Amino acid sequence: MPSEAASTTDPERPFRVAIVGAGPAGFYAADRLLRDEHPIEVEMFDRLPTPFGLVRAGVAPDHPKIKAVTRVFEKTAKREGFRFHGHVEIGSDLTHDELTSCHDAVIYTYGAAHDRRLGIPGEDLPGSVPATRFVAWYNGHPDASGHDFDLSGKRAVVIGNGNVAVDVARMLVLPREEMAETDIADHALEVLSASSIEEVVILGRRGPAQAAYTTPELRELGELTDADVIVDPAEVVLDGASRQWLESEHADRTARDNVEIVEEYSQRAPSGKPKRVVLRFLASPVEILGDERVEGIRVVHNELIADDGGQIRAHHTDREATIECDLVLRSVGYRGEGIEGLPFDERTGTILNEGGRVLHEPGGEPFRGVYTAGWIKRGPSGVIGTNKKCANDTVDLLLEDLDAGILPKAGGDSAALDSLLAERAPHRIDYAGWERIDEHERELGEAQGRPRVKLVTHDHLREKATG
Ligand code: NAP
Repeated sequence: MPSEAASTTDPERPFRVAIVGAGPAGFYAADRLLRDEHPIEVEMFDRLPTPFGLVRAGVAPDHPKIKAVTRVFEKTAKREGFRFHGHVEIGSDLTHDELTSCHDAVIYTYGAAHDRRLGIPGEDLPGSVPATRFVAWYNGHPDASGHDFDLSGKRAVVIGNGNVAVDVARMLVLPREEMAETDIADHALEVLSASSIEEVVILGRRGPAQAAYTTPELRELGELTDADVIVDPAEVVLDGASRQWLESEHADRTARDNVEIVEEYSQRAPSGKPKRVVLRFLASPVEILGDERVEGIRVVHNELIADDGGQIRAHHTDREATIECDLVLRSVGYRGEGIEGLPFDERTGTILNEGGRVLHEPGGEPFRGVYTAGWIKRGPSGVIGTNKKCANDTVDLLLEDLDAGILPKAGGDSAALDSLLAERAPHRIDYAGWERIDEHERELGEAQGRPRVKLVTHDHLREKATG
């Protein structure tokens, strides 16, 4: 049980931090801690046998430069005082209380793995799928290896105007040769190569000035080998509220650039490529249609109105339309879930916190020694680099609390953790186990001119990790 305050002056006993979640926020936090002048040990946990979170399982396979950030994380993993415990789930294999029994502080960085729902009729018809599942499947996430996607139809509709929507749309029209040089899961390479999808509609409920995607990702849609990008000029005529906002000091560069690019797309004549990506705006899905499976989507046309706080919101008009389609990918954001014993804000899907210090209740006292960073702290927003500042801010608070001598000191050390893990998580995979997976995947990839060929089932990952 935690007892006296943790001291940084005890040379026999480094300060011990558990990090739950081996994605970017977890690794940035670990790096910051391990570079600190205090002697610190970091024990990092992940429910998967593999580290790197959404860098491995979220970033699109055709974006290898973004994935190169793992080289930074690999260096962190080699720092003295770092240990990885893959395939250990906090909340089931170990409880929060058990973690605090052998760590002086815990940082939760396990992200937001679930999909947000639309709450419209027909959402669960076969053929209507969360984009998060599609992403996990083409990236070889072991929980998604058994999924099956029917791509025998001609048109897919992607709901949402964020970077995930753009990623999944692009993956649906990428030529086989381009996919085959990536680390896409083999099962997805086969299914996507045989796809009959000719048109992907990306459906935004607001206009191009409010789109959540970033400019490089939008630009890529105009440079696809096999697909023309199509925009109806009538849908990009800016409404008064958006124009006023764009001209104001509040508008950011991304919004201005995005509007410009979408306007340019709307002036393009199709060049006759075999596939199309159609950007639609100002239309909200109200029902997914079909008897046995998806046959279409009923949308209502929106107009944009600035509310009292200046936020530009979509308001339904009485104009409706039906878009016939065979597949719907719902890409309206990720959602985090709580862990037993931790205060959780259901409204935002985040652990209740102030700047990264976990709170017992809204506006209440800090939960001493418990912190959070990344998407489970602030919600699913920003790019990978955003997590560096987010994690550093949290670690700064932790170190401030340590220096103030207000953190409870855990009774147990790494040996206590090891005996707990031996009993509760004998299936644990250490960093050497991950390195065996990594080496094997890279070797398979080298033979095929690819960065790696991913092992995509829990069994194969476990077998390779344990040699
Ligand atoms: P996101 O950026 O939050 O976008 C969600 C989109 O869904 C928004 O356009 C939102 O529109 C729309 N939406 C929400 N509720 C809706 C509804 N009921 N009906 C219709 N549309 C609805 O989420 P994301 O695309 O999942 O991305 C998550 C994070 O990962 C983002 O920060 C993103 O930048 C990042 N990411 C980055 C990359 C990259 O850097 N290449 C790739 C993938 C993801 P409103 O704005 O109107 O609410």
